[in-house]
Amino acid sequence: MIPHLDLRLVNAPYSGELEAAARRVLSSGWFVLGEEVAAFEQEFAAYCGTAHCLGVGNGMDALTLILKAYEFPAESEVIVPAFGYIATVLAVVNAGLVPVLVEPDETTYNPDPGRVAARISSRTRAILTVHLYGKCSDTTALGALARAHGLKLIEDAAQAHGAVFGEKKAGNLADAAAWSFYPTKNLGALGDGGAITTSDDALAERLRYLRNYGSLRKYHNDFAGVNSRLDEVQAAFLRVKLPYLDTENKRRRHVAHRFLTEIINPNLTLPNAVTAERDAWHLFVVRHPQRAFFQEFLLKKSIQTQIHYPVPCHRQPALRSLNLGEFPLTERLHEQVLSLPLNPTLTDEQIDYLIETVNRG
Ligand SMILES: *Cc1c(COP(=O)(O)O)cnc(C)c1O
Repeated sequence: MIPHLDLRLVNAPYSGELEAAARRVLSSGWFVLGEEVAAFEQEFAAYCGTAHCLGVGNGMDALTLILKAYEFPAESEVIVPAFGYIATVLAVVNAGLVPVLVEPDETTYNPDPGRVAARISSRTRAILTVHLYGKCSDTTALGALARAHGLKLIEDAAQAHGAVFGEKKAGNLADAAAWSFYPTKNLGALGDGGAITTSDDALAERLRYLRNYGSLRKYHNDFAGVNSRLDEVQAAFLRVKLPYLDTENKRRRHVAHRFLTEIINPNLTLPNAVTAERDAWHLFVVRHPQRAFFQEFLLKKSIQTQIHYPVPCHRQPALRSLNLGEFPLTERLHEQVLSLPLNPTLTDEQIDYLIETVNRG
């Protein structure tokens, strides 16, 4: 069986270093907001090219805290992708703001700047874009749109660790970026973790309070904040894995290149290859008009696939009462997408077998 992703294999090359990192934290006796988090924040900010990085509890909190820190008026609208994972929309709702969904560009799956422009209203305060599957959104077009209308541009970079757009890395393409280090991400912790990157000094300062009960001095609270902190053990693990991220992404790009050039099944729509050498390839998502049939075929041939994601956000019972609108393109894509196994642990033999089998399906 070729599993979609085996986290034991993903972490195996680093087990010695990870164990040493855990022991280092254990013997320090300091577990929350200490030297490991401060060091990781510096290292990840340097990696992304931003002035600041703030560790938080998870990706969802990173998104919500950015939106709260901007202190937009109640009922402000935030434009978010209709096609993608529900965390992005839920963060807007949980920050007390109104999500306004936009259909994607059918070839990149990222927000279509033309469609974003059409949904800007007098109440819009921000555009929250997602670099879906590891491909950066067109932040040149979205940034121009945001500037023209006085809006904040925010990245959900949870699938784009190490992705590049133009001369810059994901996380440094907008006013602020939210990161998740959920174990399956390109840079994954051994538990929950998240971060915010930004070069906005004032925003970083507010977030430093907000993530820690609104306090920088113990028992002195200046804002009504929350408790959402990256812990020392996860930060120590992330410090072990960050130096290998580019090597792992290089391997992902190699696999993606082979899939893109050697998969020739006429029933499949492959990912857009234009930016293939700069994408992070968090997922390799194809489309098939009879997805269930194709997925079953692959499973019988011992290839495990996944669907990202089976139910569109606007169809989720959790959000139904918001009457988000109709999104026919999004619905069609959700019915057709299928994620093939693509990760740095795939062997050359497994890649050969995947390509052969997919071409026979
Ligand atoms: C994983 C993910 C999140 C949420 O991250 P958590 O750490 O699980 O809260 C948000 N947005 C996208 C696009 C993601 O892939």
